[in-house]
Amino acid sequence: MERGDFELPHFAESDSTRALLKVQDGCSAMCSFCIIPFARGHERSRTLNDIQREVEILTARGYREIVLTGVNIGQYAHQGRDFCSLLRWLDQAADFERIRISSIEPTTVSDELLEFLASSKKFCPYLHIPMQSGDDQILRAMNRRHTIKSYINLIEKALVTIPDLGLGTDLMVGFPGETESSFQNTLAVATDLPFSYLHVFPYSPRPGTAAMRLKQRIPSASVKKRADLLLDLDRVKRLAFHNKQIGKTVSALFESGTRAAYRFGTTPNFARVGITGSEDFRNQILQVTITAATDRYALGHIVPSQQVNCAMVAR
Ligand code: SF4
Repeated sequence: MERGDFELPHFAESDSTRALLKVQDGCSAMCSFCIIPFARGHERSRTLNDIQREVEILTARGYREIVLTGVNIGQYAHQGRDFCSLLRWLDQAADFERIRISSIEPTTVSDELLEFLASSKKFCPYLHIPMQSGDDQILRAMNRRHTIKSYINLIEKALVTIPDLGLGTDLMVGFPGETESSFQNTLAVATDLPFSYLHVFPYSPRPGTAAMRLKQRIPSASVKKRADLLLDLDRVKRLAFHNKQIGKTVSALFESGTRAAYRFGTTPNFARVGITGSEDFRNQILQVTITAATDRYALGHIVPSQQVNCAMVAR
């Protein structure tokens, strides 16, 4: 084993019908607000043999979808295999209908990765790429490695390359020095780009991080107001994304149980889809025609006469 590579003594957590498969840990990027490089250490990659072992176990347990996770997943590197090459290997070797990449840093999303996602039948057309701020001055103070221009270029390329892409991002509000005008820049970029959802976080000072030394703290009332504006925008984005699904027939992987009288499933591009009915379709992938939308989910009905595959997920 190379120095820094790791194996996991225990196996993946389950996220209902999705299994989380950790392939990478640690981060060396040193964003000024982030405690992770101190708490989790430098970048390390899980050995391929260990990943393979877990893939076999998850397959035997009947999982239909796995989510690849890591702290800075795009930095995966093991024995000459980079992240794209790991994905190509999984595409061939792993017997899952769906593989999803969790959050990935913008500087690690290459043209090769976008083209691979567009061509793969297993990998989901879904990307969660943290932007954090839409203002270059704040991005510099955050010690982020992208500019807003490079971020927008990346998103535009991703949207052109991958049909039906589901796109999420993280936005931080109230970072020290965030003026009203820098926040307006964030709001403008987040409004313009066709995100399907936004994760909004208020800045939280972490002892030991570089941002703790920054003076211009933002009053909590302003932070709340900015977060609320972005949360309103998040609802608008979700509704627009769900509205775009109306009239389409999509594949949905169903969870167990009901909520608000609906049974829910998730599409490859991460739209949440609700259907009515009492039948339990847990861990089944079914075609659903979308007929309506809310800001929380799309609604539809199952296309009749489908062959139901009853693969079980171990609990
Ligand atoms: S925010 Fe992400 S990329 Fe930046 S230091 Fe933390 S884990 Fe690394």
